[in-house]
Amino acid sequence: MGPLQIKEILQATPENQPITLKGWVRTKRESKNAIFIALNDGSTIHNIQAVAEPGQFSDELMQSVTTGSCLKIDGQLVESQGSGQVVEVKVNAIEVYGTADPEVYPLQPKKHSLEFLREIAHLRPRTNTFSAILRIRHALAFAVHQYFNDKGFFYLHTPVITASDAEGAGEMFRVTTLDLNKLPRTEEGAINFKEDFFGRETNLTVSGQLEGELGAMALSKIYTFGPTFRAENSNTTRHLAEFWMIEPEMAFFELEDNMDLAEDFVKKVITYALINCKDDLNFLQNRLADEEKSKPQNERSLPLLEKLSFVVDNPFERLTYTEAIDILLKSKPHKEKKFQYQVGWGIDLSSEHERYLVEKHFKKPVILTNYPREIKSFYMKLDEDGKTVRAMDVLFPGIGEIIGGSQREENYEKLLGRVNEVGIDPQNLWWYLETRQFGTAPHSGFGLGFERLVQFVTGMGNIRDVIPFPRYPKSAEF
Ligand code: ATP
Ligand code: MN
Repeated sequence: MGPLQIKEILQATPENQPITLKGWVRTKRESKNAIFIALNDGSTIHNIQAVAEPGQFSDELMQSVTTGSCLKIDGQLVESQGSGQVVEVKVNAIEVYGTADPEVYPLQPKKHSLEFLREIAHLRPRTNTFSAILRIRHALAFAVHQYFNDKGFFYLHTPVITASDAEGAGEMFRVTTLDLNKLPRTEEGAINFKEDFFGRETNLTVSGQLEGELGAMALSKIYTFGPTFRAENSNTTRHLAEFWMIEPEMAFFELEDNMDLAEDFVKKVITYALINCKDDLNFLQNRLADEEKSKPQNERSLPLLEKLSFVVDNPFERLTYTEAIDILLKSKPHKEKKFQYQVGWGIDLSSEHERYLVEKHFKKPVILTNYPREIKSFYMKLDEDGKTVRAMDVLFPGIGEIIGGSQREENYEKLLGRVNEVGIDPQNLWWYLETRQFGTAPHSGFGLGFERLVQFVTGMGNIRDVIPFPRYPKSAEF
């Protein structure tokens, strides 16, 4: 089925056998005795070298073989004469599928800035950096499904369009088929959403959790893995308007079980990448090391592979929010007034605080638990003291929050109380509340932002560079 991939060909034993290559030219180099064409089809970071003789083909044909052009090459697989590769292809025939005029083709064999590549997101998968990231992203997604499948979880598809605005209405993207130039009005002059497609206001989901819980109350262990949307106008290196979230939800899991699962899960998927993406990780590690050369020695971070192994090999630090606040209050940057935001019990930790804990104080991933109820969502289980909730955030070096989760409130009265307290109309959530009336059970879950995981594993600084076509404020071109 289809041609052999370059990845497979590079592993074959060279026996002069006929071989067909299909791919894009990365570079063409001419010497006195040979023309070297480095071809890549995206199956691996490595190019295959095709060797032609000067004069073997017409000038016209050879002039159309330029960086970015797409070729079919027929030849023979032979042992490589040069160093740097084991096999190469002795070219017999070249068919040019598509040229790429070097006067206008934007990707030339030189270093391009990540910012520039973002402007040509339709072509950037053809670079070494982005093809490596996309292969790693794939491997991680595969590992996610494999992990949960092995653990007896069921993949539940939760809806993308939702009518519940439970998670903070301001951050949602509206879904409508109403004519914005001719909005139907009620007698009072408000927009009449009864005439909208679903007969009510609908948005893109910010999380599959609430529906995920419905699944867990029947199948015990489920997970979702789908796109989520947040219209938060945060132009940070860690936020996208469209991102993929993995949300396991488990009946009969308490906060401890939830933490154990979260830690084991991230470690296992990172391990999968370490085993299966060696070449790509090595490439990215070298790329990062290059970038870091300009920094003074003591500011350089661990090499990528060491950083990943470190996270896999060491237990995450677990502590309560209250303990974390104490550490921050005693910290040097607090005493020297170096934090931009105030520290005190009750604050929503900002990323400078999280990063201090993870990168300076503990120097490893941290799981913070038992946050003040006021700064967390209504569905989190109240602690005995009534002041804190059974929340857990997993914080990673360089990333900050990678996972947010909690044990869920399973008590109907308490949950209803919280719903009213935060000003949600219980009627909008009648179906969610009913799970607490019919066979309620202790249960827990969490959400992992998939791109933040890919960011961590690839070492990329900006989340916009770990998703093929990023969506962020004022950008939805591709
Ligand atoms: P943050 O405080 O970093 O904005 P959050 O508290 O809003 O995150 P949650 O609502 O708990 O995040 O969502 C669960 C996970 O989804 C987060 O831990 C993070 O990994 C990821 N996440 C949240 N918002 C975004 C976003 N805009 N882009 C990418 N990933 C996100
Ligand atoms: Mn957020």
